[in-house]
Amino acid sequence: MRRLAAPLRLAADLALPPRCPGCGAVTSDDHRFCVVCWDGMRFLAPPWCATCHVPFAYDRGPGACCAACAAKPPRHAGIRAAVAYGDVARTVALRLKYGGRTAFAETVARQMARLLPDDADLLVPVPLHRWRLWSRGFNQAALIAASLARIGNVSHDPFVLRRVRATAPLRAMGSRARARAVSGVFAIDPARRENLRGRHVVLVDDIHTSGATSDACTRILLRAGAARVTILCWARVLPGEAGD
Ligand SMILES: [Zn+2]
Ligand SMILES: [Zn+2]
Repeated sequence: MRRLAAPLRLAADLALPPRCPGCGAVTSDDHRFCVVCWDGMRFLAPPWCATCHVPFAYDRGPGACCAACAAKPPRHAGIRAAVAYGDVARTVALRLKYGGRTAFAETVARQMARLLPDDADLLVPVPLHRWRLWSRGFNQAALIAASLARIGNVSHDPFVLRRVRATAPLRAMGSRARARAVSGVFAIDPARRENLRGRHVVLVDDIHTSGATSDACTRILLRAGAARVTILCWARVLPGEAGD
């Protein structure tokens, strides 16, 4: 394959049938899941907490909040996720992030688009540290934000928020250690700060786990003048369920 001239390689790629992003089964269209994978995903929708969008088992009425939000109102204006974290959601995220399947950014963005707030002004991806960007070659959150920007016709800025320090994986840490680990990790590019002033910023990520990273990003975006920050991601580990 490597020795084919570029136009031939392109032709070969185009001739391949579309495949399910979850399992690789042949499907009718690009970005379309097979029935098994589709049924295996839990799409998040109301009834849910009016603040953080954690799904409720039953409708508690308009404006009802979960116990956590009622006890301590969060900084963000909502955490919106297309699906609950599970096998298919994880596979797609891993293939995008480590398998180099960058087209999956479009796949997940299509599912996330329905949750884009109507008054969103600016999409900002959770940044990677430059070393990680260098070794991976791309930031999956920035690819998703770029696709979403195109689908939703909203501006995006992958440079306004920067990760100035690399962090160890947060998975094994408790919540206080996580908050400590991400403190001082993010910074705003002073030359782009004006882009944030008074805007409804949507922070875009692939997987939302503990919330430590998005909380640190939200805090600095608000401090830099953003009016509101809503978090929008592909998949979310729901409270009480283990991620990995
Ligand atoms: Zn499938
Ligand atoms: Zn809540």
